[in-house]
Amino acid sequence: MHPFLYTLAADEPTARRIAATDPAAAFIAGGTTLIDLMKLNVEHPAQLVDITRLPLAKVEELPDGGIRVGAMVRNSDLANHMLIQARYPVLSQALLAGASPQLRNMATTGGNILQRTRCWYFRDTATPCNKRDPGSGCSALHGQNRIHAVLGASDHCIATHASDMCVALAALGAIVRIHGPSGDRALPFSIFHLVPGAHPERETALQHGELIVGIDIPRLPFATRSVYLKVRDRRSYAFALASAAVALDIRDGIIRDARVALGGVATKPWRSQAAESALVGKTAGSAAYHAAAMAALEGAVPRARNAFKIELAKRTLMRALARAGALA
Ligand SMILES: Cc1cc2nc3c(=O)[nH]c(=O)nc-3n(C[C@H](O)[C@H](O)[C@H](O)COP(=O)(O)OP(=O)(O)OC[C@H]3O[C@@H](n4cnc5c(N)ncnc54)[C@H](O)[C@@H]3O)c2cc1C
Ligand code: SF4
Repeated sequence: MHPFLYTLAADEPTARRIAATDPAAAFIAGGTTLIDLMKLNVEHPAQLVDITRLPLAKVEELPDGGIRVGAMVRNSDLANHMLIQARYPVLSQALLAGASPQLRNMATTGGNILQRTRCWYFRDTATPCNKRDPGSGCSALHGQNRIHAVLGASDHCIATHASDMCVALAALGAIVRIHGPSGDRALPFSIFHLVPGAHPERETALQHGELIVGIDIPRLPFATRSVYLKVRDRRSYAFALASAAVALDIRDGIIRDARVALGGVATKPWRSQAAESALVGKTAGSAAYHAAAMAALEGAVPRARNAFKIELAKRTLMRALARAGALA
C-alpha cells in the first residue's frame, strides 16, 4: 500500500476544493471498495478526502412524489427505509441481496454506484488488464471468464458491473445528482455508466473532482409491483451470476407499462427497453415473459466459459416477471 494524505472534510466546499486541486485525490465514503483496492495496489490515490461528515445522509420526498437519496445514505438504511420498502420494493430487495449486513452498514449510495468490477484479473496486478493498466491487454478474453459479461462487452474488456443496487436504480430510471468544479449537473442513470468500448478504464461519465451528492428516484406508482431476483453460486455473500429488476403495471390482465434491468451479465447496469417493449400491451403471463427474456438477451455474446449465462439470465428474468405478475 502506498503512503497517502488523509483529510476529513468538514463541509462540501472543502471536500470539492481539495479533490479539484489534486489530480491524485479520491473521495472516500464507506471505504469498502476503495480500501480493498488500495491494499491490492490496484488503486493508489495520493490523498483521501473523507466525505462521511458531509450532510448527505437524508432520504426525502420530492414534491412530485419522487424520492431524493443522499450520497451518504448507508445501504442498510436505504434498504430498510419505509418509503423505499413501500414504493420501490425492488430497490430494497436489491440492496438486501448485496454483500453482508456488516458491509451494508458501511457502504454508501454514492460509493455503491462507483464500485469497481470483481473481475479477478483486475484485482491481480500480476496479470494484464486494460481497465487497470490501459493497453496491457485483457486476460479474461481467453482466460477464466465464467463470471464475465455477455452484454455490452468489447474486445478490450468483458468485465461485469458488480452492483445489485444499480440494477434496481436502472430499472427505476434514477437520476444521479453531481456537484463539481464546472457546476452542478444531473445525469440519467442510463448514461451515467459507460460500456467499455476501447477505453475500459473510463467507467462513468463522472469527471475528476466531481462529487455525487445523491440520486433522485422518479415517481413510479407501479413500482409497488416490483421484484429483484439474484442468482449466484452461494445463497448469500456472493455477486450475481445473473439478476433481474422488474416492475409491472398490470390492469385487467394486460401489461400497460414495464421496467426491466439485468445484472451480473453486462458491463453496466443493463436496462432493457427491448424487453419492456416486448411486454407492453401483452397479456400478463408466461408467453409475454418468455418474449421479454428473448428480447433482453438478443445479441448476447458468449465467451468460452460463460455461455450458460445467456440461458440463466433468460430464466432469471422470466422468474422475476412471473413473481411480479403474481403480486396483488
Ligand atoms: C466482500 C464484499 C462483498 C460484496 N458483495 C456485494 C454484492 O453482493 N453486491 C453488491 O452490489 N455489492 C457488493 N459489494 C460491494 C459494496 O456494495 C461496495 O463496496 C460499496 O457499495 C461501496 O460503497 P462505499 O461507500 O464503501 O464506497 P468507497 O469504497 O468509499 O468508494 C468507492 C468509490 O467511489 C468513490 N466515491 C464514494 N463516494 C463518492 C461520492 N459521493 N462522490 C464521488 N465519488 C465517490 C470513491 O472515491 C471510490 O472510488 C461487496 C463488497 C465486498 C468488500
Ligand atoms: S475483463 Fe476488463 S477488468 Fe477483466 S481483465 Fe479484461 S480488461 Fe481487465
